[in-house]
Parts: sequence; structure tokens; C-alpha cells
Amino acid sequence: MPELPEVETVRRGLEAQLVGRRVDEVVVRDRRLRLPVPSGKLRRLIAGQRVLGARRRGKYVLLDFDGGAVLMVHLGMSGRLTFAKAGVPYAKHDHVVFELDGGRELRFNDPRRFGLVDAFARSDEPKHPRLANLGVEPLAVEFNANMMHKLSRGSTRAVKSFIMDASVVVGVGNIYACEALFAAQIPPSLSVGRLSKVRWQRLVDAVRGTLVDAIARGGTTLRDFANPAGEAGYFATDLRAYGREGEACVRCGRRIRRIVQGGRSTFYCAHCQR
Ligand SMILES: [Zn+2]
Repeated sequence: MPELPEVETVRRGLEAQLVGRRVDEVVVRDRRLRLPVPSGKLRRLIAGQRVLGARRRGKYVLLDFDGGAVLMVHLGMSGRLTFAKAGVPYAKHDHVVFELDGGRELRFNDPRRFGLVDAFARSDEPKHPRLANLGVEPLAVEFNANMMHKLSRGSTRAVKSFIMDASVVVGVGNIYACEALFAAQIPPSLSVGRLSKVRWQRLVDAVRGTLVDAIARGGTTLRDFANPAGEAGYFATDLRAYGREGEACVRCGRRIRRIVQGGRSTFYCAHCQR
């Protein structure tokens, strides 16, 4: 499943290739994604419009158009956006095609169909049901120790669940949460209300550093790697905690443990994370 670093890589690619281009036509070949693709609305809002920019909100890619519309794409489990020359035969699972000026096309391909494609007026973005309740961006300055410390007072939730909650902070997937907690030396089950501001600072830095590292590695270059849980991420050799149950901790040499929190595997060192 594409995680935030991969989506950010996709966003950068779209920005480089699409800004200034015009979408001449939208062809919906199959509406059946996670929600039905609103083909009429896509055509009405997007066709004939030029791309002004590409943003990301959590794992949603948002393309802004000069007519005031926003195209929203979520890659789901297996979605991909690819460029092709017009006339090149469609691939299996090319569900939505954006025909561009200059004879190229942007194609949304999604074998497992958990992806989403939607369009709306920019003025409706704050109340869009998929976007309205999203928490802070982990790479934004608003994600900081003060804010997280304040937000977590009185809460008994486990810190790992808290940082993976998209209504708190978006895009911290399981692998990144495990690695950030390891780096910050914080036990994953600790009640988040007990985390001091100093430790929040360490954790905020670790979350950001983990994501920035992954983006710097290109995100998509990691596409072919999937661990047994089907999660895309670092190559196993770059992980210090995740997937290393029973192996020696790189810091203290004791064994990495695995527990299950909220149905997800957590890997940590009980000796250095306490
Ligand atoms: Zn250790």
C-alpha cells in the first residue's frame, strides 16, 4: 500500500509533468472504485481546464485547476498514475484516463480498486468528507512538540496508536510509527498523556526524520518491496525495528520484540525504549 513518502513522490512527479497542461477530456472506463467515480462531475469540472499545481493532503493527491476545481486521487492499495502517449492501448485496470493537450494521457490504474477519484470546487474542499477531519501534516511546522503535548494531555491512549491516528497527524503508517518510536526511544504502549514535552520533541523529530528519509530515497523506488503484511516501505536492511523480531537491537544488542496493537504488529526494544 502506498504510504505518505510514496504519495509525496507521486505528487512531485505530477507537479513536474502536469503544471500548465490542459486536460482535454476525461474518460471513465470503469466507475467501480472504492466509491463510484463521478464521471459527469469529473468531465464538467476538469475537462478543458489547465493544471495550476499539485498538492498533497495526507495520502490524497490534489490537483488544482485554473477554473477553480480540484481533482482528488487516492491510490488505495494498488493504485498507480502513469503517463502514456495517446493511442497506446490501455492496460488492464486503466480505469480513468485524463487526455492531455500535447498528445499524452494520465491514466489511473488500480487492480484492487481501493483507490478513489473525485472532483470538487476548491471552495468545497474544507468540508469534503474525506478531507475535513484530517489532522496536521507531519512535515508542516504545525506538527510540533507543543501542539502534540497539548493535544495528548489527559489521554490514556497508547502513543503508537495516537501518532497513527489520521485525525491527529496524517500519514504515519505502521512501519514509520515503529521506526520513529525506536529512534526516539519511547515505548510504543506508553499512555500518550504521560509523554513529556521533551519526549514529544524527540518523537516529532523522529517521525519527521523517518518520513523525510523515505521521501529522499524516492518512495516509488521501494514499490517492489513489500513485507509479508503487504506494506510497502524501506528495504528490510534499512529498518532498525520493524520486521526484526528476535534479532539483535542495533543499539543495545538485546532482542527486538513484537506485540500486536490495534491489530497491527509493533516491533520495539524493551530495553532501550522505556
Ligand atoms: Zn535496544
